[in-house]
Formats: sequence, C-alpha cells, structure tokens
Amino acid sequence: MELNIYGCRGSIPSSSPNTVRYGGNTSCYEILVHNKQIILDTGSGFRNLRLQTDRSKIILYSHWHHDHIQGLPFNSDLFIKENSVTICSALATKRPFRNTLQTYFSGGYFPVDIVKHLPNLTFVNFNELQKQLSPEVTVEWLELNHPGGAAGYSIKSSDGKISYLCDNEYELSQFDELSQFAKDSDIVIWDGMFTDAELPSKKGWGHSSIEQAIEFYNECNVKKLLIAHHDPGRLDSKLDELSSTLPDGIEFAYDGMKVSV
Ligand SMILES: [Zn+2]
Ligand SMILES: [Zn+2]
Repeated sequence: MELNIYGCRGSIPSSSPNTVRYGGNTSCYEILVHNKQIILDTGSGFRNLRLQTDRSKIILYSHWHHDHIQGLPFNSDLFIKENSVTICSALATKRPFRNTLQTYFSGGYFPVDIVKHLPNLTFVNFNELQKQLSPEVTVEWLELNHPGGAAGYSIKSSDGKISYLCDNEYELSQFDELSQFAKDSDIVIWDGMFTDAELPSKKGWGHSSIEQAIEFYNECNVKKLLIAHHDPGRLDSKLDELSSTLPDGIEFAYDGMKVSV
C-alpha cells in the first residue's frame, strides 16, 4: 500500500516562492493498493497525477467544495477514452452527485460540459463501490463536522490502513467515534488548517487545528499522523517553525510526499 500526495493545501491553490516546499496544490491523495488506484479528491494537485492503465481507477470524493474538485478537468489522462474511471462519494448517491459536478463544470462556470463529454467516467453509489473493491480492499466512511457535510474515509487491506479525515472541525464530542474509526491506522491524514490561537475567529469554518492533531494522536492508537489542508497563507517558513513543535509520529504533509505502508 502506497500513499502519494499531490496536493495538501486548503481552500485555494497557493503558488509562490514561499510555498514551494510544502506545495500549493489543493487536496489530492493517491492510494495504490493491490491492483487499484484510489484517488481521494481532485483538487488542483490532480493535474499532476498519472492514471495507471493497469489498475482499476477510482476517484472517491470527501465533498464538493471547490478545493476538492477543481482539478478534475485538468488531468489530460482523463481524456484518453480507454481510461475508465469510477467516481463515487459516500456523501450522496450517484445521480445528485453527478448533477453537482456537471453544474460546476459547465455553462457559466466552465467552458466544457466535462461530465457529458467524458463517457469513460462512471458514477456509482458507495455501496456498489464497496462491492467492487472487496475482498482485497475495504473502504469505510463516516460523516465529518463540516459546513455542507464531508465524508471521512478509511481504506484497509492486508497491507495496512489509511484514514482520511479532511475537512473536519474537530470537537471533543467526536473523539470516541473518530478514534474508533481511525483505530490501528498506519496513517491518518488530519485537517490542521488552523492553530489553536486562530480557531476562535474561525468557528464554523469547518476545520481543525494543528494542536488538536497532537491531542488526538496522543490519545488514540495510530502509527503516523500527517497534518494537511494547510492554510493558503501559511508559508514554508512558518510551517518549518511549527514543525519543530510536533512530536514523533506527526508530520506536516507536503506535495510529492510518498509513504509506504
Ligand atoms: Zn477543503
Ligand atoms: Zn470543505
């Protein structure tokens, strides 16, 4: 099982000489497991991901805030008709989800009706996806605390387990459910957009803090935690400074990061 990070910036791509180390692309994570390529979200980082012809290709969406979908039509591999791609989200059934993506990428918002023009994209319901992945891979989900909703996922195989918990405004009342969900994960990807000092002015924005990542990690049984969904204004120098406060087992995610499980 392999995790490759193509985008871990929150909200909007952040391109500048001061964000090159952690990267400016928005959410896109690739998990290679057995003969499957599972892609979590298609933020701007999706443009740099190559679809693998010898694996079944699945895009699993946490939700459809723009930073999680905006990269979809910019991946040239998607326009190769032999590249069949399954698209799914646990947050909605296939028809309303398809309509949402089609509205975002057509008409007054986007020049090409991408959903209509790409017959190689197949939308499926989450329960159908589970059947498609089993028995080698198990995917579970839970609803996160985020305006408009967001799905957290865990992807498990005989190799290990990776949990994806962005975007989420962490509350202590979530601890039991989240820690049970993420239990025994080799990697947890955590939404650490803010610091504790910033949280009071960002209440209701749907994101957690770096310090909450540490609290969560210390209290639950997971091997490694990667803090992601970095604030677009958080420069490399600040992330480096904050990085020195992180205990062993916790790291800031960065574009280009690869972790094997
Ligand atoms: Zn987001
Ligand atoms: Zn969001």
